[in-house]
Amino acid sequence: MSDDATTGQADVAVLGAGMVGVSTAYAARQRGHSVILIDRREPGSETSYGNAGILSSGSIFPLNGPALWDKLPKYLTNRHPALRWNLAWSIRNAGWVISFLSQASAAHSKPRAVALRGLIAASLKLHREWIVKANAPQRIRETGWLKAWRSDAVATARAEQAALAEYGIRTELLDRQAISALEPHIVPVYSVGLLNTQTASVDSPGAVVKAYAQMFAGSGGQIRRAEIRSIAQDGAAWRVMLGDGTIKARHVVVALGPWSADLLRPLGYRVPLAFERGYHQEFKPNAGRTLLRPIHDSEASFLMTPMEQGIRVTTGVELTARDAPSSYAQLDAVIPAARSVVEFGDPVGEPWRGARPTLPDSLPMIGSAPRHAGLWLCFAHQHIGFTTGAASGVAIAAMIDGAPPPFDAAPFSPSRYL
Ligand SMILES: Cc1cc2nc3c(=O)[nH]c(=O)nc-3n(C[C@H](O)[C@H](O)[C@H](O)COP(=O)(O)OP(=O)(O)OC[C@H]3O[C@@H](n4cnc5c(N)ncnc54)[C@H](O)[C@@H]3O)c2cc1C
Repeated sequence: MSDDATTGQADVAVLGAGMVGVSTAYAARQRGHSVILIDRREPGSETSYGNAGILSSGSIFPLNGPALWDKLPKYLTNRHPALRWNLAWSIRNAGWVISFLSQASAAHSKPRAVALRGLIAASLKLHREWIVKANAPQRIRETGWLKAWRSDAVATARAEQAALAEYGIRTELLDRQAISALEPHIVPVYSVGLLNTQTASVDSPGAVVKAYAQMFAGSGGQIRRAEIRSIAQDGAAWRVMLGDGTIKARHVVVALGPWSADLLRPLGYRVPLAFERGYHQEFKPNAGRTLLRPIHDSEASFLMTPMEQGIRVTTGVELTARDAPSSYAQLDAVIPAARSVVEFGDPVGEPWRGARPTLPDSLPMIGSAPRHAGLWLCFAHQHIGFTTGAASGVAIAAMIDGAPPPFDAAPFSPSRYL
């Protein structure tokens, strides 16, 4: 491409306008950089659209923790709604699977929990500030997040409460009556609950990302709708080749969520990214008898969140190729269980599928590419990127300026894999 073909120029080009990219773009703009945010779709239309909308303070223990070993026998049957896995994919990606399982020990658990605690705490602070600045304060609910058990799982709930308390995360242990007082419209199927009181949720994750994107545009940032084809170094700068032109920028941030590894492969980076796919279906709520907060049914393995459109039921994990055809087995398994908890009407729209991008240690990559100056990596936020996108973006913007990030970012360094 010649210089003539340059169709845009900025200090920072942010690739991907999910929660991670939009947060990065806004944070870089706040530091005074000229910023172009590029996506082929409207901001917040992919993974950051279809999630459960939980701004979670307590999600510090990744799926591959020590508790996984007890659950593994039932997961291996490939019938459990919490985890389905594709055999051919698992064989082809045996290295990733082994590496993921090798992290499921107490020794690996603590440092990751400490790292995620810092990232999450910084992110929650930002969301509570940004959602007001973005004129969307009505979208956030400060009603916590209820994890609930149908069986008499008091000991399990107490153990989880104690584990979270070690990291300063407050919860309340609830019995059946207390759960009914909190959620008066649900059928009293749960005998034990753990209310994560510092967690918030939103009524439309996609709309929140769009509001943050508008806040970015309002602060002088540019949003470009285009297919990103490749990136290449050009002296001390970078060129981003688009479907309809080329952007030149001093810094490029890859925030393409589940698509991030594709763009990096031609530069010689082989990112061990896997996809914990998940589904949602929304249902019309019954007027006056809806939920007041997200509920995680621990044994039936689903989440349901009251959203603007209705009640959104989200599934557990399907471990397979990012673009493999959809299988609705998990949704089919959990919808009757959700209906047994709260009355809801017909489906709203079609089922949705997304992919949680996950590295073997379940920590995101936040930092500079090891062999390319001016290239920044910010992806693989697994189950909690709607929450942690905010501080991840602020950290990248700080690193670009050589300033300290708002949490200890060393555990998230890309150099641990690249
Ligand atoms: C079922 C489910 C439930 C979840 N629930 C929660 C939750 O309650 N709380 C929470 O914190 N997290 C949750 N998550 C995780 C969270 O949604 C993700 O971690 C997060 O959205 C990832 O954000 P992102 O910006 O990295 O990716 P995305 O939102 O996917 O953004 C990537 C962007 O890159 C763009 N893109 C990709 N390739 C190209 C290209 N070649 N050219 C142009 N544009 C491109 C895409 O269009 C997209 O907009 C959930 C995930 C799932 C699947």
